[in-house]
Amino acid sequence: MVISQLLASGGLWLSLGDTEILVDPGPGCIVHSTKRKLRADKLSAIILSHRHLDHSADVNVMIEAMTQGGFKRRGWLFAPADALDTDPVIYPYLRDFLDGIEVLQEGKSYSVGNVSFITPVRHVHPVETYGILFRAGGHTFSYITDSRYFDGLCRSYGGELLIINVVRLESDGRPIDHLSVPDVAHIIKEIKPQTAILTHFGMTIWRAKPWEIAQRLSEETGVRVLAARDGMKFDLAEVEGETPP
Ligand SMILES: [Zn+2]
Repeated sequence: MVISQLLASGGLWLSLGDTEILVDPGPGCIVHSTKRKLRADKLSAIILSHRHLDHSADVNVMIEAMTQGGFKRRGWLFAPADALDTDPVIYPYLRDFLDGIEVLQEGKSYSVGNVSFITPVRHVHPVETYGILFRAGGHTFSYITDSRYFDGLCRSYGGELLIINVVRLESDGRPIDHLSVPDVAHIIKEIKPQTAILTHFGMTIWRAKPWEIAQRLSEETGVRVLAARDGMKFDLAEVEGETPP
């Protein structure tokens, strides 16, 4: 999908109160974000779930944009160790432009502005990979990034909104480190969010029409399931958060 650009691959832009966070800036992020008038110089942080190209290709240019071409030292970067050390995807000269870099680790919690998040479990994927459980403004929501299904995946995440990467239509028994539609049906039934958003579609999903898959999953799970679209916006006010004390 990335090489055909049938669907855009720029990542997720979170706007949570005064805190803006960019997650997984894949190829095209700088183009799509500027076109949509999203201001990179307002970002507080960039998070990479893992170093694969479809999640990190534009991380360098987005660091430049966040720091106004390196003229203003600001913003944080969160990434697994192997994205920084072993086979780095972030240019060393850009790292000095940042306020700091934090290495993502299993079970650790982090905070940016008024947002806190944890990376509860290391995923089963060829490179070091973490999904994220966010808390902000009375809301809790999860981003389950690339992974093979494993025991413990469901219980690591929760919240009223689930954003989940689904690459394959069927699991078909082949060992492949991505979630399929049957995996995602199971995960949604276990986590029971109020809304689930499917994203990161592979070609088999695209051919089967993601919006029809979402409709089927809504019927099967009883949860409102949406298929992401390019430029899609979701307002967290659509799901009910914790009631304030
Ligand atoms: Zn990946």
